[in-house]
Amino acid sequence: MVTQYKNLVNGELVAGDKWIDVVNPATEQVIGQVPDCGQAELDKAVAAARAAFPKWKKTSIEERRACFAAMATAIKDNSDELMRLLTSEQGKPHAQAAGEIAGCVGMTRALPTLSLEETISEDSAKRLSRTRRVPVGVVGGIVPWNFPVLMAVQKIVPALLSGCVIVLKPSPFTPLATLRMAELIAGVFPPGVLNIITGGDALGPMLTSHPDIDKITFTGSTATGKRVMESASKDLKRITLELGGNDAAIVLPDADVKKVAEKLFWASFANAGQVCIAAKRIYIHQDIYDELSQAIADYAKMIKVGDGAEQGTAVGPIQNKQQYKRVLELIQDAKDKGYKFLLGGDSDPSGSGYFVPLTIIDNPPEDARIVAEEQFGPVMPLMKFEKIDEVISRANASDYGLGGSIWTSNPEAAVEIAEQLETGTVWINESMHLAPNAPFAGHKQSGFGAELGEEGLLEFTYPQVITIAREAA
Ligand code: NAD
Repeated sequence: MVTQYKNLVNGELVAGDKWIDVVNPATEQVIGQVPDCGQAELDKAVAAARAAFPKWKKTSIEERRACFAAMATAIKDNSDELMRLLTSEQGKPHAQAAGEIAGCVGMTRALPTLSLEETISEDSAKRLSRTRRVPVGVVGGIVPWNFPVLMAVQKIVPALLSGCVIVLKPSPFTPLATLRMAELIAGVFPPGVLNIITGGDALGPMLTSHPDIDKITFTGSTATGKRVMESASKDLKRITLELGGNDAAIVLPDADVKKVAEKLFWASFANAGQVCIAAKRIYIHQDIYDELSQAIADYAKMIKVGDGAEQGTAVGPIQNKQQYKRVLELIQDAKDKGYKFLLGGDSDPSGSGYFVPLTIIDNPPEDARIVAEEQFGPVMPLMKFEKIDEVISRANASDYGLGGSIWTSNPEAAVEIAEQLETGTVWINESMHLAPNAPFAGHKQSGFGAELGEEGLLEFTYPQVITIAREAA
């Protein structure tokens, strides 16, 4: 019998009337079940959150910080168990799963050091005017399957720190480690402040249209983000959307080929390419194109793709069947168009597990699907460029605007290029680094609003201006 994981509602662990199977993507075996909630269960969770809000919003920042300290300790003390569970449901290798859990502990400790101070806009003989930040209310959080626990933590902590309460919905593909975390921290917050409920495809739209939810914080694909925005617009819910990306990596001719090959590999293939800020289009200057593309392919040949629970595995499977089929379809399209493969291109869908061999495609055209679309899999298109202006406009010719990177031995000079990229983050000589005190915000169709940093925290609040005339009435 598989383990059944419970939801957290109003401080209690709640079983389901119906259950959803959760599958290990490396074996395709069912490894757990979670409640399949509908409107009635959602209503209960929202009502519990609503009831908890008036008291929670009046707690001091010190009281909230004490809760986060306890939450971080609970996660840290159970890191090993959470890491194994995360690998089994998401597919990522143990070391990367351990990194995600450590990131949860780090974010739970670091984000609460942020605070929103009152500001004075006028202090004159006539009046005193101050602006304070008040929590928006009940937040609905929606999380994807690529970094399921970290994305949950990055919503829970700032929401509760701001004085809001939350009803969080994990992806039905990866709810297990999040629900186990919920069990571990069930007693940390007062009942109703943190609620985590699971369900199938119908639950997300119920959350975004729920009349008693005041704000939605969503991480997922751009297509779903648009649906969330439309649904939330009915009653003008506040929204924060962290969406897809098609990040360009630009390698300048002065880059050190040996060093960059390995870093670029991981910028693209970490988490089997299922990272919103993975390098998804690699532009290499023509002077070093042949040497660098060969060096990346040589490095990739040493990497073991397999079950993340096996020792030595560095790249795991695709997380779910739907995405697996999509990645295979993009590879097939590249084959049909006759693009040259430096590596991969063949996969055997008959075995168990959603494994895609590491695939590197040699200089496909700009309008190839593998270049123009977010692959979200272990497929790397390498493209040649000649001039800086040309590569900047190619990098910017996308509806996405999440991140980008530049690789060079002259980082100071690369800043000028970075400033011309139309993305929320640009890394020079590294990738994927996000900090708790810096905003992470997609430009264009990669997002709406920001997460992390003070700006991320502000998104859970309304400004309120209180003005006192100096002259008594
Ligand atoms: P997805 O959009 O399919 O699903 C995300 C979440 O939304 C899931 O919990 C899902 O159940 C829920 N959902 C589905 N339909 C819904 C609807 N109509 N209304 C409300 N909720 C709904 O995304 P995914 O496939 O889980 O994740 C992959 C995508 O997420 C990629 O595009 C990736 O780039 C993006 N992503 C972005 C970030 C970021 O911070 N910008 C981080 C991670 C992933």
